[in-house]
Amino acid sequence: MKIAFIGLGNMGGGMAANLVKGGHEVRAFDLSEAAIAAAREHGCTTFASAAEACEGADAVVSMLPNGAIVKSVFTADVIGKAPKGAILLDCSTIDVTTAREVISLAESSGYDMVDAPVSGGIAAANAGTLTFMVGGTENAFKRAEPILAAMGKAVIHAGDAGNGQAAKICNNMLLAIHMIGTCEAFAMAEKLGLDAQTFYDISSVSSGQNWSMTSYCPVPGVGLVTPADNDYQAGFAAGLMLKDLRLAIEAANAAGAKVELGEHARTIYEAFAKDNAGVDFSGIIRKL
Ligand code: NAD
Repeated sequence: MKIAFIGLGNMGGGMAANLVKGGHEVRAFDLSEAAIAAAREHGCTTFASAAEACEGADAVVSMLPNGAIVKSVFTADVIGKAPKGAILLDCSTIDVTTAREVISLAESSGYDMVDAPVSGGIAAANAGTLTFMVGGTENAFKRAEPILAAMGKAVIHAGDAGNGQAAKICNNMLLAIHMIGTCEAFAMAEKLGLDAQTFYDISSVSSGQNWSMTSYCPVPGVGLVTPADNDYQAGFAAGLMLKDLRLAIEAANAAGAKVELGEHARTIYEAFAKDNAGVDFSGIIRKL
């Protein structure tokens, strides 16, 4: 398949390389010269604009920083430039409203399109083990699935357009809340004279058990090896968690959903990310 790939950054670079490994002809574009050079080394053909990369493509995949950029790239360079009948996939994490708006614009110009944000960071993007949460029609999902499978270990249909983004931000809001809760519990255990390893041994098999504790423990030397064991080198950076929390609160407000703990988590990560945007999000334990 001829696949145009727009946005070859930390995530997109590895994803495009995996499409090449999957036997696809990848037509790549990024604003950064360094990203273009790296994509060329990974076997992509590179172009001087997104519109040129889309010419003759069977599919277009994007991995861009935010909703405003996704909307401007799709309206200026993808819709009307990619051949009619191409399947369009946006894998960026963006707000639900913009995702639905861009998909509706694409559909009214005769394209199938899905929002397909990912779970898993740079390591999973490089290894081809991302999880994709996909919003769009049944037909669009069926067409997108084999392309996404070349870059991930799981591809899940979340429902209509925008529901991939909805799943992503609901999941990450919950992750932020249980990471903060887990950090508070470890910090309190220490103040009460309870050893971190002992608390872990008890809580990890009791009702306080959760993913932040047993898969991503924020205390160095306890549980599995995590960013805590590497001086909180990200991992999943606090700045990206803050981005997702802001998207979650925006979506909750638009939908009239009450998310008091989500709002509190955003306030806590806002304060932490001011000086620690690049630090792993589990490093919040240092503040608690
Ligand atoms: P990044 O900043 O490393 O990459 C974004 C790339 O887009 C850059 O190379 C930039 O030059 C390019 N770009 C920006 N505007 C462009 C335009 N108009 N045309 C073409 N290229 C353009 O970011 P990233 O870490 O790769 O993240 C990409 C997306 O994936 C974001 O939406 C992010 O929230 C999401 N995400 C990231 C992670 C992670 O761990 N990094 C995990 C899950 C999801």
